[in-house]
Amino acid sequence: MTINEFIYRLGILVHNPHIWKYYRFLKTSASWNLNQLQDHQLRECKKLLIWAEQNSPFYKKLFRKADFHPGNFSSFGELARIPPVTKKDLRQNFLDIQIRKGFSRMYKTFTSGTTGEPLVFYRDQVWDAAHRAAYFRGLSWFGVLPWHPSVYVGGYNINPEKRRWIRLLDLLQNRRRLYSFTSAELKDMIPFLKKSLYLEGYSSMIFGIAGKLREMSLNIPLQLVKGTGDTIFPHYSDLCREIFDCPMVSEYGAAEAGIMAFECPEGNQHIVMENVIVEVMDNEIIITNLVSRSFPIIRYRINDTVEPVHTGQCKCGLAHQVIGRITGRLFEYLYGKTETYHAYLLYNIINKVSVQDHPIRLFQAVQKKKGQVTFLIAEKIPKATKKNILAEAAKYFGEDMDCFVLDKTSPLGEKGKLNNFIGIEQYRTMSAKGWEL
Ligand SMILES: [Zn+2]
Repeated sequence: MTINEFIYRLGILVHNPHIWKYYRFLKTSASWNLNQLQDHQLRECKKLLIWAEQNSPFYKKLFRKADFHPGNFSSFGELARIPPVTKKDLRQNFLDIQIRKGFSRMYKTFTSGTTGEPLVFYRDQVWDAAHRAAYFRGLSWFGVLPWHPSVYVGGYNINPEKRRWIRLLDLLQNRRRLYSFTSAELKDMIPFLKKSLYLEGYSSMIFGIAGKLREMSLNIPLQLVKGTGDTIFPHYSDLCREIFDCPMVSEYGAAEAGIMAFECPEGNQHIVMENVIVEVMDNEIIITNLVSRSFPIIRYRINDTVEPVHTGQCKCGLAHQVIGRITGRLFEYLYGKTETYHAYLLYNIINKVSVQDHPIRLFQAVQKKKGQVTFLIAEKIPKATKKNILAEAAKYFGEDMDCFVLDKTSPLGEKGKLNNFIGIEQYRTMSAKGWEL
C-alpha cells in the first residue's frame, strides 16, 4: 500500500465508513443482468416511497392528492401517477422534505445553481456513500484509483482561508486544482499534470485547457479525462484524444440526484441503476434517487434534456441501461479583456451572494462585448448586495472585466425560457430579434 493510498483510505474512513461497503456492493452488482437490476430498483423504490410517505409531510400530501399508495407499488409504470417535482418545489418545501430523524450524520450539500436558484440540503451517510462509490466504480473501469495523482478543473472557493483548506485536502488526496485556465495557472500545473493519471472537471474548461496545450505543442498522455457539468461535444473528445491520448468520458450527475450515469470504456453512458431510476418524458429527464432517504428525491425534473435510454448488453460487460447524449446542458465562455473564463463562475458569484447575503431568485448575466458583463436581477435588491456581487466578481476577474448590476430588470428572451447566461454570440442573435440591453 502506498502512502497516498493509506492516507486516502484513512480519510474515507473518517469521512464516511459506509463508502467501501457500498463500493463492494456496486462491484458485485456490476455483473447483474437487467432483470436483477430492475428488481433491485423496484424493491428500493417501494421502500423509498413508503419511507417518504411516512416521514415527509410534502410527499405525504403529494401522494394523497394523486391518490397514490406506496404500499401497493409494484411496477415502473405506476410511477407516472406521481406528479414530477421541480427544484422550486424542493426549495419552497424544504422543511417538509428534509428528514433528520434516525440519521447519525449528515452532509451539507449545495446544488450547482445552474437555474439561478440555489438549494441547500443534507445527505445521509448511505446516500453520500452511494454517490462516492458510484464515482469510484466509474474510475475503476479505466484502471484509475481515487488516490492516483489527478488534476481537478473547477471549484470556486475564493476565500483565501478556505482555498488553503481545499489545497490541503487536495494534497492529501494526491490532487491539484485548476480554478481557471489562464496561461499562468496552467503553466504552473504542467509538471504535476505530467505525473497525473487522470484529469477531471467541467467539460468545456477541459476543452479550453486542451486548446491551450495544443498552442504550446504539448501532449500529455493520461489514462482518463472525465468531463462533467456540461455537454461533451464530439470535437471536445477529438481534441482530448489528440492532446491526452484518451477520449473525454462523461460523468452525468447532480447534487440532488448523485451520479446518474458514467461512461464506460466502450463509450456508453451507463445509468447507475442501483442508485437511480431515470425516466425520459418528451426527452426530459425525470429522476428518482433510490438512496435519498434524508431528502427524498422522487420524480424530480432535473431540467436536462437527453436522447432516449437504451437497453442491451454492452461490450464492456454491463447490462445497465445506457442514457443518450445529454443535450440540454450548455455552458459558454466568458471573455475578459485578455483572458477567457468559464461562464459557470457567474453562477458561483450569484450562488455565494445568495447563500451569504441576500437570496437572489432570478438572474441573468449578459455579455455584450469582451471585457464586460452585466448582471440582470429581476427583483429589487439592497445596495449592499449589489456591491457584494461586484466584489465577488472582482475576486475572479480583477481588472480584466467591467461588471455591472441592474436590479428590477427582466431577463432577456422569451418568457418562461430563462437562460442564465447570454454570451456574445447569443447576444448578437437575440439583439437581432429585438432583445437588447
Ligand atoms: Zn459499457
